[in-house]
Amino acid sequence: MKYTIAVIHGDGIGPEVVQEAIQVLDVIAEKYQHTFTYTPVFAGGCAIDAVGECLPQATIDACKAADAVLLGAVGGWKWDTLPGDKRPERALLGLRKELGLFANLRPALLFDALSDACPLKANIVSGGLDFVVVRELTGGIYFGEKGMKETPLGLAAYDVEQYAEEEVRRIAVTAFDMARKRNKKVTSVDKANVLESSRLWRRIVTEVSKDYPDVALDHLYIDNAAMQLIRNPKQFDVIVTGNIFGDILSDEASMITGSIGMLPSASLAHGNFGMYEPVHGSAPDIAGQNKANPMAAILSAGMMLRYSFGLIQEADDIERAVTAVLAQGYRTPDIYTAGMKQIGTQEIGQLIRSALTE
Ligand code: NAD
Repeated sequence: MKYTIAVIHGDGIGPEVVQEAIQVLDVIAEKYQHTFTYTPVFAGGCAIDAVGECLPQATIDACKAADAVLLGAVGGWKWDTLPGDKRPERALLGLRKELGLFANLRPALLFDALSDACPLKANIVSGGLDFVVVRELTGGIYFGEKGMKETPLGLAAYDVEQYAEEEVRRIAVTAFDMARKRNKKVTSVDKANVLESSRLWRRIVTEVSKDYPDVALDHLYIDNAAMQLIRNPKQFDVIVTGNIFGDILSDEASMITGSIGMLPSASLAHGNFGMYEPVHGSAPDIAGQNKANPMAAILSAGMMLRYSFGLIQEADDIERAVTAVLAQGYRTPDIYTAGMKQIGTQEIGQLIRSALTE
């Protein structure tokens, strides 16, 4: 198979971790006889330095022409004094909009070897954790009408939470399709006891579920869902929710799995197109020191194989290789604990590549 991947290395540790992910993809390509063609493009702070804007049109065009996008991270101290609309991070919002990325996927996968990093009690997470948060990314209160108005109590500010049927339907379909490839359970999270927008959300998700009789559906209010994630996270398979609830729940889910350096993510559009990136930022404090954990970026590349290219065996291979290296006791500094073997970004990348060919 042949695929074109637009690569945004970005800033800080972005280039270091993306480099490791690409080398892993190269090993997969050779092992399974695929051809991955990489189109490197600028976005973020390095794009501001090179051409004066964080998301050049050439980058958008190259991303649209590719089969998927792999992104490191953008931003850093150097650009922190720029006004909000000129900052490198604006590139992320632009990419989501231009590429129609409406679904954000964050797997919460707790590797057995890292269970000590999980803040929950061992009996709650024994046997590991494996669920996905599917967050609606382009609607809801972050994009609704907003403004200020005078009221008898003084100046008031408002942000409107609004969801249209079609917006809910497409994210529900994404969640149910995903559950079909996993453990066949969807939990939809809303606040339907209070919010009109949540009542519509619940009605549409229930309608969509009729097309998936093999997938179980349950509904939770957001407050209960936040509690259940701590109390009994193993009950979840696919959690689907709106933009603001998903923003909060996916960060909560990240904490359960330990280090930010381990967390991959995907943002999906219609069809198989998606942008894949580690959850972490550009970590300027450790950039250029061979200290960054590249596993989130490598696992993001694995998600790209799974969700955009349908290369399930290849994606499983990458997860197995990461699991094997962790089981051998190798750790980057962010996940190091006493008794383990501490190594750098490039060394752990090399070990993962070796594990792929063993
Ligand atoms: P961050 O995720 O970059 O770093 C937070 C902490 O986690 C730091 O101590 C860092 O050293 C550590 N860390 C992060 N990734 C790591 C890895 N792979 N291995 C080891 N340690 C890791 O968050 P921040 O410091 O809040 O943000 C730094 C910059 O990144 C800011 O400019 C921010 O706007 C940007 N940012 C970008 C994205 C993105 O591009 N998607 C996401 C978040 C933050």
